[in-house]
Amino acid sequence: MSDQSNPAEEQEGPILETSQKDIVCKGCAGKLVFAPGTTHMKCPYCGAENEIAVSAEKIEELDFQKFLKEFEGQAPMQEVANIKCQACGAQTTFQQGVVSEACPFCGTPQVVKDASINKVFRPRAVIPFIVNLDNAYGGFRKWIKKLWFAPNKLKQSARQDSFTGLYIPYWTYDAKTATDYDGQRGDDYQERQTYTAVENGRTVTKTRMVTRTRWTNKDGHVDCFFNDVMVAASKSLPSRYLAKLEPWDLKKLVPFTEDYLSGFRTESYQVNIKDGFAQAKQVIDRGVEKAVRTDIGGDHQNIQSLKTLYSGITFKHILLPIWISAYRYNNKVYRFLINGCTGEVQGERPYSWIKITLFILMIVAIIVAIALIAQQ
Ligand SMILES: [Zn+2]
Ligand SMILES: [Zn+2]
Repeated sequence: MSDQSNPAEEQEGPILETSQKDIVCKGCAGKLVFAPGTTHMKCPYCGAENEIAVSAEKIEELDFQKFLKEFEGQAPMQEVANIKCQACGAQTTFQQGVVSEACPFCGTPQVVKDASINKVFRPRAVIPFIVNLDNAYGGFRKWIKKLWFAPNKLKQSARQDSFTGLYIPYWTYDAKTATDYDGQRGDDYQERQTYTAVENGRTVTKTRMVTRTRWTNKDGHVDCFFNDVMVAASKSLPSRYLAKLEPWDLKKLVPFTEDYLSGFRTESYQVNIKDGFAQAKQVIDRGVEKAVRTDIGGDHQNIQSLKTLYSGITFKHILLPIWISAYRYNNKVYRFLINGCTGEVQGERPYSWIKITLFILMIVAIIVAIALIAQQ
């Protein structure tokens, strides 16, 4: 008998008691999973579709300052069972009913009995998966076919079942800024310059146009509003890869319900709210500087001093969908990522030095052959 035949029994006695509840089929009591690109949960056992109750609540942001002062009660919490990967440190949830699962970030096998329960912020909103595994994998096959000099082993080893659907954690911050600045504005102008040169042994006087800059003092005030500055709360993926998966269409965010997570894994945030804001502040400060330069105007700007007050800072915790496959090649971990919203593929890739060497040898052989023919 296949283990799919008795779902009700399979989900009995969860390994850890948490608020990650199973969402059960009304028809057969099987565990429902979210069907990407739809608004329903699908039963893998009887095929029944159960519509997700869409919450009418607004996706509210939380007050950052208030939160820092009185942490307790400021944000809804939840308990989740997480496995911490001993190899890469990633903390992820696992599928209920499984005993072991590979770390989605590095492929290291993990045993679910090593899981622990953590109290974490309940996400405010989630972008549910739109791209399902078939479509994600189809896009990936197209992408990998086009890779030059990729080792054959890589092309063979990246199988559909090596992909995990994973929600990665982000913080978003809103803030108002009020900035006073002091600086100088530089305006370019052309000036005729006289100079001497030696021509045919004689010294001659010539003129040419040169660009000069006229500087004037400029001070002023700039107000800005920053909406949804995103900070990845994951430390498991290199930020340059997360950046490549952007932009995310935050209009696709829906109020959080556990239904969307069913059938997928979720990474817990590893960057706290305060550190997250420090990162967001860097983005905000770059935006402020840009606004100040625009305000100064001219061809060049020199900012001498800049004082910014931040107010109305709010934040929220959101989850974003990716498909990920991690594989080892020559003792190094490589990852393929697919944006679960747009299907866009990003990946780290090894090169086959054998293929590159053969290619170079072939080119050299062609050049030598052409040279020989030309000599005759
Ligand atoms: Zn069912
Ligand atoms: Zn890992």
